[in-house]
Amino acid sequence: DLAMYKAKDSGRNNYSFFTESLSTHLHERTDKISALTEALENKSEFELLYQPKVSADNEQKITGVEALIRWHSNSLGFVQPDQFIPLAEETGLIVALGEWILLQACRDFLVLKKQGCDLKTVSINVSNIQFQRSDMISTLEKIIADTGIAPSEIELEITESYLASDENSVPEILQKIRKMGIKIAIDDFGTGYSSMSYLHKLPITRVKIDKAFVDGLPDNKGNLAISRAIIGLAKAFDLLVTAEGVETEPQRQCLENEKCDEIQGYIYSKPLMLDELKSYIDSRESIAALA
Ligand code: C2E
Ligand code: CA
Ligand code: CA
Repeated sequence: DLAMYKAKDSGRNNYSFFTESLSTHLHERTDKISALTEALENKSEFELLYQPKVSADNEQKITGVEALIRWHSNSLGFVQPDQFIPLAEETGLIVALGEWILLQACRDFLVLKKQGCDLKTVSINVSNIQFQRSDMISTLEKIIADTGIAPSEIELEITESYLASDENSVPEILQKIRKMGIKIAIDDFGTGYSSMSYLHKLPITRVKIDKAFVDGLPDNKGNLAISRAIIGLAKAFDLLVTAEGVETEPQRQCLENEKCDEIQGYIYSKPLMLDELKSYIDSRESIAALA
């Protein structure tokens, strides 16, 4: 049966042999789905880490943080987001998980602010499926009402594939979200189905240059040309630009020269637990005060 499904999956007029690995793969998948379903009951296996985003000017001030999920599964051990987000999307479990992420990230952000951290925004990754299978507008309205976060403190990171999807509702939903005051960033810009027309047709506020382009800076001519073009394009449409996955000083310097607004990456910090983040922010503030 497994072999038949695999053959059908690969299109018409195909055949496929049964292999042990096919069976193992299916078992792993079912195990992961049931573990994920269980974990969603009380969410205690999930944790949000936060990676600081820093202004690319002389001040190098922390402007905000991006929430990144981690799953410490009781039965499977640590599972990377790349290993369960796609599965959560396929199964629709991302809707419940995504709501928890939104709520938790807003709560954590307000805790930090209460402790005196001067942060402008919390960036939260949202999956296309959350838009397709749930009412994002009411979810966001409810979270804002329940937590008291200012809508302008929330930035949603969406993907190009969502913008490129043929659903007619995309511009309308994004307009509504933007009218609420929430900010909208395009994640991994330039890696997917890039179209420049999104930038002026849709109410986007920021683009994020993917690590794949940042990696080659400053020497790789192609990557430099792409990064420069993205920054130029963004500026022309009055959008902010963040470069992600910045690891080295030459990369950072190059992006600063190119007038990129914000830097995110291991050069400053890996994603941190909430208390680690608080200490990181405090230590940077005291260095700034001395300078
Ligand atoms: P992303 O949104 O593009 O996030 C950036 C990824 O790059 C993160 O991996 C981050 O830890 C990593 N990273 C940041 N700076 C550096 C660096 O300087 N060097 C290197 N090598 N890596 C760096 P992570 O946390 O494993 O997340 C992977 C992907 O999983 C994310 O890519 C995002 O697409 C997805 N994801 C993570 N958290 C969430 C979430 O809460 N909701 C949704 N829908 N997706 C999420
Ligand atoms: Ca992201
Ligand atoms: Ca990325």
